[in-house]
This record gives sequence, structure tokens and C-alpha cells, in this order.
Amino acid sequence: MCLKTYLQIPHVVLAPAISTCPLCGNRLHVRKTMSRGVRGKSAVLRVTVKELHRANPDCKLCHVPVKPEGLAFFYLPRMVYGTDVVFFVGEKKLKDWLYRQIREALDVKPALSSLSRLFHLFEQLA
Ligand SMILES: [Zn+2]
Repeated sequence: MCLKTYLQIPHVVLAPAISTCPLCGNRLHVRKTMSRGVRGKSAVLRVTVKELHRANPDCKLCHVPVKPEGLAFFYLPRMVYGTDVVFFVGEKKLKDWLYRQIREALDVKPALSSLSRLFHLFEQLA
């Protein structure tokens, strides 16, 4: 993918809402930044996640990373497709749509085998 195409992909940056430790009051520091592409219902998104940590070694929570709260709204761990696609597939399959019809309704065209996996995941979540 060329740089021009990459920069045209909608970009979402997720960071925790808090910037200080609620226990000791010290400032939180960026532990790591992860960026990945997520296939949503109508478009591909570039999602960057900022994970924070506590630099104070005396804090009882210093080993606990602070992750953004709304992460599951965009994607689930190890999933290529976004949460909106999972729920769209589940909703349509429960209405007796065929996988081929669901695929035609989505702008991102997942493989039919991926749709059955997404529906299985939807059943686990519901
Ligand atoms: Zn602390």
C-alpha cells in the first residue's frame, strides 16, 4: 500500500480517559502504542491504541497497564473484522439471511467461511 492510500484510511486514536493514577496521583506514561487495520461494516479503519503505565515503583498498581475503555467498540482481540461486522452478521443470520446475502450487504467482502466464524463468535457474545 502506498503512503497516499494509507493516509486516506480513516484513523482513530484510542487512549485511556485518565492521565493520572487514581491511587497515588502520579502521572501515567505511555507504555506502548499499537496500530492496526480493522475491517468495519462499510470501511477499513486504522486504529491506534495507546496503553499507559505507572512509572512510580512504590505504587501498588505499578504493574497494571491502563488500556483505553472503548476498545471493544472497534474490535475484539485477534479479530480482523470490527465488532460492528460481528453484530451485523449475527443479526442478519438470526433473521434467516443466507451468508451470500449477508456478504452482498457488506462493503467489505468477507469470505463465506469467515462469515460462519463471525456468526459463531456472535453466538458466544450474545
Ligand atoms: Zn499509582
